[in-house]
Amino acid sequence: MKVYADNAATAKMRESALRVYAETAQNFYGNPSSLHSPGQEARSLLEECREEIAAVLGAKPKEILFTSGGSEADNQAILSAAHLGKLKGKMKIVSTAIEHHAVLHTLNKLKKEGYEIVLLPVGSNGIVRIEDVEAALDDKTCLVSVMFANNEIGTLQPVEEIGRLCRAKKILFHTDAVQAVGHTAVNVEAIGCDYLALSAHKFGGPKGVGALYVRTGAPLYSLIEGGAQERGKRAGTEDLPAIRAMTAALKEAIGELPEAAKKVTAMRDRLIEGLEKIPHSALNGDREKRLPGNVSFCFEGIEGESLLLLLDDKGIAASSGSACTSGSLDPSHVLLAIGRVHDVAHGSLRLTLSAENTPEEIEYLIEEVPKVVEYLRHMSPVWRDLQEGKRTFIL
Ligand SMILES: *Cc1c(COP(=O)(O)O)cnc(C)c1O
Repeated sequence: MKVYADNAATAKMRESALRVYAETAQNFYGNPSSLHSPGQEARSLLEECREEIAAVLGAKPKEILFTSGGSEADNQAILSAAHLGKLKGKMKIVSTAIEHHAVLHTLNKLKKEGYEIVLLPVGSNGIVRIEDVEAALDDKTCLVSVMFANNEIGTLQPVEEIGRLCRAKKILFHTDAVQAVGHTAVNVEAIGCDYLALSAHKFGGPKGVGALYVRTGAPLYSLIEGGAQERGKRAGTEDLPAIRAMTAALKEAIGELPEAAKKVTAMRDRLIEGLEKIPHSALNGDREKRLPGNVSFCFEGIEGESLLLLLDDKGIAASSGSACTSGSLDPSHVLLAIGRVHDVAHGSLRLTLSAENTPEEIEYLIEEVPKVVEYLRHMSPVWRDLQEGKRTFIL
């Protein structure tokens, strides 16, 4: 059996998106900036997409900027707010320790430029405390950036409360909603955010395209200079096939949402129930306040990397928390932030489901994952030490 359980990394493109992509590339190849009919036809389709995406998010069309994806949208939101902050003498940015690297690395860059970056901790449930956010805000703060949902452990952050706080204190608020859009209800008015990032390939659209919502009046600086596309804030000929495919995927995802979320949540809970039976294991992140499709576990005494390779042999595509950045095996910053010690954080497994998965696949996972964990433990010196009492169990 083949099971694709890595939907948080990227999702399979929806048929509807594939069709629209091909049709647009074939028939609407005019440059939306050209004055002739093929160009103007492309332009009107582009603006139609802007309207449709705005409608899904509860935004105005002119508040939607098309980007190359979630990373670019995150970068542009943060750098825009930081730039204005500097002009006003406000150089403090408040975020969390569990953000995606697109946010964390951008903040790191700003830190080197002299900004004060505060990365709030999260509780062992993987959720930032609203009191901590409130306590961190002062009159030097130009931006708060807190993700809607975490990509590793799926936890949903209290973005609406944070939005209210920021509005009351007139501080700009960005939320990276890349994992949330298309998977749960996302409305910019309800959140009260000034910026929101989304990415097509996380909800069945193509890779390399996304959008940034920018509230009217919020500062916006361009990262890419050139032509006057996207109101002069993002140069480069628009990728109309990708933008139309993203729009089609989003509309389909939203149309299916209540039912798909119900189905995926049921599979998630069944999978959690099955994997919890593995001794010395623990679910990562809050059990309730998590994305419908996210299952993240730590298994003591094993290495996540070997687990992934063995699962791959069984046709299971999964992911681990340990980011293998630059060859060094650093455990995931998210798992460390929820209090997992290095050894435990290394034995992590993330299975992320979509409505394409089936209950039969879930049963297959429940059957195979424990076998692989047991096999690896059988060969693990750490596990032997744990058994012999030379080390103490944490989980
Ligand atoms: C995938 C992801 C991104 C990056 O999006 P890309 O379109 O791949 O650049 C940013 N934030 C989160 C939370 C993500 O899951």
